[in-house]
Amino acid sequence: NSNNIEGKVIVITGASSGLGEAAARLLSKEGAIVVLGARRTGRIQSLADELTTAGGKALALETDVTDYEQVKKLVDIAIQTYGRIDVMINNAGLMPQSLLEKLKIDEWNQMIDVNIKGVLYGIAAVLPHMKAQKAGHIINVSSVAGHRVGPGSVVYSATKYAVRAISEGLRQEVKPYNVRSTIISPGAVATELPNTITDEETAQNINAFYEQYAIPADSFARAVAFAISQPEDVDINEILFRPTSQK
Ligand code: NDP
Repeated sequence: NSNNIEGKVIVITGASSGLGEAAARLLSKEGAIVVLGARRTGRIQSLADELTTAGGKALALETDVTDYEQVKKLVDIAIQTYGRIDVMINNAGLMPQSLLEKLKIDEWNQMIDVNIKGVLYGIAAVLPHMKAQKAGHIINVSSVAGHRVGPGSVVYSATKYAVRAISEGLRQEVKPYNVRSTIISPGAVATELPNTITDEETAQNINAFYEQYAIPADSFARAVAFAISQPEDVDINEILFRPTSQK
């Protein structure tokens, strides 16, 4: 079919808000079957219901990406229900920024668990299937923070640099299986992302920054749709985008 999105089975982690939710909406509108994972089941279930009512195909499953078994279950349900998996979008992430000297070690661990290990678990869950299918597309969400580091964003940036390293290595390894690997690196997009910041001064700064610069989440959804809609022999390796006004 013409858009190369219609009929594709697309699993999205972190689909309960922000970028994941926006991607689910646009891809469903374009005819994809979307399988939604997040911890807040109420939200993903009502999104799945809404997309189904609008004529789409969608299902939701409670998924904590820090638990490999849960990620595997999400992917396995997609395959049991729809027979295949075409695209995995490893989008779940959080950004509790603070200076290193604040020693927010629990938050460092949480970012490493969700932003890095969560992405690796998503890859592990789909790789055997995509290898067998000899087709597939893995999309990992990095950030402008995966390209540059600033005070307060050290651990977050480290996780997003890691996502880029993982995706680029994956891209090279999966060539024999006809699997595409795409990094999406957004700048400031208006979502609930700043809500996880517990350091007050950092929260104030980031909220002010987002209020000034952030663009709607549909920008991300269009970038994802662009990458997926390319002919199968074209792999968009990375899309880096910012609000036009963002420094
Ligand atoms: P939101 O806070 O709006 O969404 C984050 C999503 O991640 C939620 O759906 C949340 O679902 C999910 N999530 C968090 N922890 C877990 C977990 N343990 N298991 C499963 N899901 C989890 O922020 P965004 O939409 O902005 O963030 C999405 C991605 O985009 C992140 O990786 C972020 O780093 C990245 N990004 C965002 C930018 C922005 O400016 N907004 C810029 C660059 C990158 P739930 O809580 O229900 O589990």
